[in-house]
Amino acid sequence: MDSIQILEKLIAFPTVSRDSNLDLIGYVSDLLAAQGIACQIISSADGHKANLFATIGPTDAAGVMLSGHTDVVPIDGQDWTLPPFEMTARDGKLYGRGAADMKGFVACALAACLKASKIPLQTPLHLALSYDEEVGCIGVRSLIDMLRAAPLRPLLCIVGEPTSMHVATGHKGKLAARAICRGREGHSALAPLALNAIHLGCDFVAALRGEQDRLAVDGARDGDYDIAYTTVHVGKMNAGVALNIVPNLCQLDFEIRNIAADNPDEILERLRAEAARIAAAASAIAPEAAVDIEITNTYPGLDTPANSQAVAFVKSLTGANDTIKVAFGTEGGLFSRDLGTPTIVCGPGSMAQGHRPDEFVSVEQMRRCDDMLDNLLRLLSDHQFHAA
Ligand SMILES: [Zn+2]
Repeated sequence: MDSIQILEKLIAFPTVSRDSNLDLIGYVSDLLAAQGIACQIISSADGHKANLFATIGPTDAAGVMLSGHTDVVPIDGQDWTLPPFEMTARDGKLYGRGAADMKGFVACALAACLKASKIPLQTPLHLALSYDEEVGCIGVRSLIDMLRAAPLRPLLCIVGEPTSMHVATGHKGKLAARAICRGREGHSALAPLALNAIHLGCDFVAALRGEQDRLAVDGARDGDYDIAYTTVHVGKMNAGVALNIVPNLCQLDFEIRNIAADNPDEILERLRAEAARIAAAASAIAPEAAVDIEITNTYPGLDTPANSQAVAFVKSLTGANDTIKVAFGTEGGLFSRDLGTPTIVCGPGSMAQGHRPDEFVSVEQMRRCDDMLDNLLRLLSDHQFHAA
């Protein structure tokens, strides 16, 4: 089967992160088993989802790992003109949820595994498929734990998130958190006697914006990003029951997306100090005033040196002569930090199409990815080859 035939199968599994991916994992393990490739399945705690890891070639040597996530974002509220969970091929484009992010790459990686099973590899090829990437790189962590415990770590990892086949060496890290603002409820006619939690929340949003202004003006810079500095953003505010009740609770979900030069924990400490200041000022009205911050998710940034051997190697596979950094996060930061494996992001399609209605990957991009992986297989079967 070629990559596009496999992509058609993968799109037909509606693996939205909130739902199970086990049907897709079952399909992949059957596909590989038919070529004699054994898979390790690493189940989630509740057994509804799983990661998959497979090695083709020698098992006593470290190899090159192809990494992808199997989950996709929901289609809720999106205006699709084509069926999201059925591949439509039209005018050189392949449409369907996940076509770009990132079943296109997973399909190319699987096609490469099938080819690899028919040639004598000197250096192994590893396949790592995860779940729950789209909700904060959750699933891959148990796969990484397994790899950490294994005697050999991969030499190199290619994360196939859509980069239009550019070689990406970095992305920002992310810290997601919730601020829980507590006031005191009361009748709105007596509002000054109560403590409005929305007011506390707005004061904290002002602190977030102050921190963003500071970072934008004085913060560290990485010119490889479209937004060259660390960003702070509030994305959700939950508060209030009725107009005539002074609300006693306001929850804010916010995030810090940091460049490598900034430590998100230090930024969060400054925000905690602001939160404490806001709560202390409000405690004159109601001693129970509080602005508590809890971290809901984090993943590290990726910053692989552009002059490293790993980067030169992947550039040689694609023919690229430059590198980029991408705005979105990937599992690559975890592979790099927790395994010490040099990691590159390179895959077919563009994130301009990811997460959108009528998502697509072009046939041309799929073929370029197939070509890159064919070049990889050629090197992995070479006696002289020493990866990265
Ligand atoms: Zn993705």
